[in-house]
Amino acid sequence: MQHLRGTKDILPNEIILWQHLHKIASQIFTLSNYHEIRTPIIESTALFNRSIGNETDIVNKEMYSFIDQGLREITLRPEGTASIARSFISNQLYQTNQIHKLWYLGPMFRYERPQNGRQRQFHQLGIECIGSLNPMSDVEVIRIANSILTKLGCSNYRIEINSIGSKEERNKYKKQLIRYLTPYIQDLDQDSQKKLATNPLKILDSKNKKTQEILYHAPSIQQYLSNDSIIHFKSVCEYLDILKIDYNLNTNLVRGLDYYNYTAFEVKTDLLGSQNTICGGGRYDRLIQQLGGPSTPSVGWAIGIERLLLLVKNNLDIIQSRPCVYIAHQGEKAKTEAWKIVSLLEEKGISFELNLDNNSFRKQLKRANKVDAKVCIIIGEDEINTQSLTIKWLKSYEQERINTVDLSNLIIKVKNL
Ligand code: ATP
Ligand code: MG
Repeated sequence: MQHLRGTKDILPNEIILWQHLHKIASQIFTLSNYHEIRTPIIESTALFNRSIGNETDIVNKEMYSFIDQGLREITLRPEGTASIARSFISNQLYQTNQIHKLWYLGPMFRYERPQNGRQRQFHQLGIECIGSLNPMSDVEVIRIANSILTKLGCSNYRIEINSIGSKEERNKYKKQLIRYLTPYIQDLDQDSQKKLATNPLKILDSKNKKTQEILYHAPSIQQYLSNDSIIHFKSVCEYLDILKIDYNLNTNLVRGLDYYNYTAFEVKTDLLGSQNTICGGGRYDRLIQQLGGPSTPSVGWAIGIERLLLLVKNNLDIIQSRPCVYIAHQGEKAKTEAWKIVSLLEEKGISFELNLDNNSFRKQLKRANKVDAKVCIIIGEDEINTQSLTIKWLKSYEQERINTVDLSNLIIKVKNL
């Protein structure tokens, strides 16, 4: 049997990278008082239709949707923000009138053509700062993304940022963009031709060379921003400057989801081919209200973990944990003794591996060396008869016999090694 196309098993030798990432990220989140939230993987399909937008790639062609046995329309979440907005509303988190600083990590699902850094089940690490319009909150979330990437030893990235204004400003701009592009429609790539009618702003994202050439003289969203948008964006840039966080202004950056306004940003790298965006985010001041909650300005981002790990895994020097003690035994009575030792080691917080086959001591010792234990406790017939244990120190090859009652002393010795 094979795993499904676009899905992957994360095996133990890889999971240590994930655990490391989780540790680093959660430390940084905790320092800034962000708290973890876990929402369900399944949500009603309407949630994503109403938030992400009908003309987006995600809703149009990438969602894993199905009808459940109660005839409900259900979708495996393609991203985290909509679920968190839903959770904010359904748990009435707004009642406290506080700013909610949340983070999440979990699997997301999109029906896409699998490639390096693009899967059908992938994972996102994300944060949402819910309840503040202050440009400081935009910069706080960008700063945290930057800290996580830096702490992971990642340096080959750049932050791109843009203001996409309010919906009204964007609508005005959209009209002008359509007016500009229509005479060139035959020269646009096929995808962009389709988008001209449905989602023209996404044409700015096109990687097609000809399309990019045409876009060179296109009107820019910057020309359509109101004073409020400009002032907000200026503050964001100013705070980033104060923090000495490098960024590039990219006036073609629009993001693929409908709910964004004002600040939009991405973190990109040149090292991952066409899957070059590792983080995407922005402000979404209308989303919560649009889903039936009170007006709640918010900002957040999501990092694709698979892409991030492709980028940083070679920088990370993480040591796989290994057991301190190997317990080798032979015979029924030795097994009883082995169980006692296991309980004691666990109580004292010492890692161990218990032999689980009936191999010879020679093979068991070989295994103890292979797992790189510090010490092997050997329990055979002789040891049982004399109420003793043979201790083999695997680094020095020294061997000693101790009384079973002296095991606690041995544990202290192992702990201090
Ligand atoms: P792309 O343009 O690469 O499709 P996107 O705009 O669809 O990205 P977002 O919805 O903003 O991506 O998601 C945020 C991040 O999640 C992306 O920057 C990327 O790192 C990651 N991501 C998105 N889709 C996938 C996928 N199918 N497989 C792996 N990672 C993904
Ligand atoms: Mg996509």
